[in-house]
Parts: sequence; C-alpha cells; structure tokens
Amino acid sequence: MFKTSQSYPILFLLILLISGCKEKSASTDPKMEEMKLTQKALEIHKRVLTLDTHSDTPLRMIEPGFDMAERHDPRETGSKVDYPRMIEGDLDAIFFAAFVSQDIRDDDGNTRAKDLCLQMIDSIVASTQKNSNIVGLALNPEDAYTMEKAGKRAIYIGIENGYPIGEDLSNVELYFDRGVRYITLVHSANNDLADSATDPNGPEHGGISAFGSAVVQEMNRLGIMVDVSHGNDSVFYDAISMSKAPIIASHSNARSITDHQRNMTDEMLGLMAKNGGVVQLTMLANYLREAPPNKKLDSALATLRGNMKPIEDMTLEERNAMRRSTQELNERYPDPPATVKHVADHIDHIVKVAGIDHVGIGCDFDGGGGIEGVFDVSEVMNITIELVRRGYTEEEIRKIWGGNLIRVFKEVQAVAKRIQSEEKS
Ligand SMILES: [Zn+2]
Repeated sequence: MFKTSQSYPILFLLILLISGCKEKSASTDPKMEEMKLTQKALEIHKRVLTLDTHSDTPLRMIEPGFDMAERHDPRETGSKVDYPRMIEGDLDAIFFAAFVSQDIRDDDGNTRAKDLCLQMIDSIVASTQKNSNIVGLALNPEDAYTMEKAGKRAIYIGIENGYPIGEDLSNVELYFDRGVRYITLVHSANNDLADSATDPNGPEHGGISAFGSAVVQEMNRLGIMVDVSHGNDSVFYDAISMSKAPIIASHSNARSITDHQRNMTDEMLGLMAKNGGVVQLTMLANYLREAPPNKKLDSALATLRGNMKPIEDMTLEERNAMRRSTQELNERYPDPPATVKHVADHIDHIVKVAGIDHVGIGCDFDGGGGIEGVFDVSEVMNITIELVRRGYTEEEIRKIWGGNLIRVFKEVQAVAKRIQSEEKS
C-alpha cells in the first residue's frame, strides 16, 4: 500500500528508479511494474478532481481546541481528516456534513438539533475563513475546479439527518443560505421526514412522510441535493419518484456484494442510472465485506456504550477516552479487515449494473469510515492505484472521483433555476 506524508520526493525517486532501470527487462520485473503502475496512478490522482461527499469532521471541529490546520495522528486521536492530511492525500474537495444524531421529536428536541446543526455549520465556515490560504468555502459545482486551480481545497457543506429541520419548512432555506448543498433525509432512526434503514422499531411512514415530501420539493426549488443514504428502501423509491432532480446516495455501497440494509440492491442501482443520480462508495468496513459474527466485540462495545453519556455531552477528555477504549476493543477482538480491493469490487459491480456515470466516493471519515489502506484522508490515493490496477482509464477515474457528483450537482441547480423561473412567470 502506498503511504505518504511526502509524495513528491517519493515520486521523484520512482521516476529515477524507473529511468535507471530502462535497459533491464523491466516489463517482466513485478516490482518495477508495480512502481510504474503506482507512478501512473499518482499522476492521474493529481490531475483529476478528487471529491469526497461525506465526512463527519464537523463533530471534531466543534471540539474545543481541535485545529483543522494541525496534523493529527489518526491512531492516537481517532481523527481522520484535517487540512494537512487532505493535502497529503491530494483530496481536492470534500463535503463536511453537519451531523445531528436522532433524539426526541418535540419542540425542545427540534430546537436543540437546530442549534447544534447551526453550530457545526458555523464551525465549518469559521475554519475556512481561518485557513483561507489553503481552503475555501465552496457553494457551487464550479467552485471545486476554480479552487483546485488556485491550489486550495474546496470545502462544501452538507447536513446528515433532516432532524434539524424540525417541523418548519422554512429551515430548509435557512440552511441553504448558510451554504448547505445536500441533506441526508434521515439517519439511524426514523425522523419526521422519513424512515431509517436501521430503526429498531421498523418503518413508520412507509418511506418519506408528507412533510418529508414537502422538504424534497423545497430542496428541489432551492438546489439542494437529496441524499437517500441511511433511508430504508421505500425512502429510495419515494425519493426517486418525488424528486424533480437527480438524487444522490452520499455514502452507500452495493448490496449484492455485501448484504447490508444500508447498501443498494441491483434494482436500485439500475434506477439510479435512469434517474441520472450517483452512488458514492463508502469506506465503512461492514458495508464493504461480510464478516462472521463477532459476539465478543459486540458485547464489549455494548457494555462500553451502555456506560457512556451522549457524545455531545462529553468533555474532550471523555471523548478521547471513549475513542481509545473503542480502538482497544477493536484491536482485542478484530474483524477480518476491509481493504481497498473490497472498495474496487463494489465499484466494479456498480459500474457493471448502473454504468460508469453513476458511481463516486464518500468515505465517511470521522463517522466510522476508514479501512486497511484507506485508514484516513492521507491515504485516499490507494483507491486510485487499485482502479488503475483494474484497468480503469483516466477519464473513468475522473468521473468516479468527482466528475459524476459535479454533473448531478449542476443538474440539481439547473432544475432549481427552472422551478424558480416557472414560479415567477
Ligand atoms: Zn452516515
């Protein structure tokens, strides 16, 4: 696996090695072939726009003392994304999701959710202002390319879980005005908008609720992408039929490769292609490969969680202690690793079923994402290396790494423009 905190000297070394070995029969030397492949992949990775649609890093940003301009050790701190590591991994653009976990659905709960969501959005904006020499706040599809040319990382904002909309439709426009460009309708439990794929009590609305449908229409009107990740299957079918614009799954995989309810069936993948939308592959181990039951780990984690207060009520020390304990348990009772090969297997499958125009990447770093070889954002080039190994062309990799998502984003904005001009006339 390629690992770097200094990719340029390594690239230089590779070029030297390869040019020095030209006389020998390089084509039959597997080590030399591997170096050539890595070099080719790194060059492609550098040239294409690399965009990750899902990162829960705002959870870290609101922690007192957490500095996005500092490099963090992922194994020491659990942190998977900061600006130095985005530069190391040559990730050009990212959607930071303001994530609020599902809680009580009443006025108090809705108000608390909205406050926390706005606090996260503010922290994203503040971080881009504080680090304006290396990153910028991105609001439109073209911004990613403009900033890439200017040598800056593009920071987009999403919301994971429609819970902070509460029961007030006008909040959708409020979030849009703050820079939000996608909303994941629901998270791990049902909310007022939609049913979750993982609610222990099962579905409640039969997909998207009447209020959720109004939210989808409002998102279409404003130009916010509708994200169906975390929704149950009915939410997907409802969103596809309700939305006037293509939809996205910001972090979901293929169910026929890994049977998980958060992943998408072949029928859904086919419909996604017809819809013109995109499925963004995620680096969550359990969505990437089947693992035998791990009762020891499950019960140890359940005990740990049972003794914990909600993460938003924890002090920084408590959060770090919780992360260390979780890491220790994962190491004591390890699952078989998920690797970049699993990622490429899912990509191969989605390309086969839906086509090359309907797949992308949404790693879910800082939300549980991170696998062997793509443990944090500094290692995302390993996805490109595996894609090159499997014969994907530069143009195909360009689509996967951001081109497809940007196409959908543009279409979503074009639909909003049409709706708004129809309203005026
Ligand atoms: Zn998620």
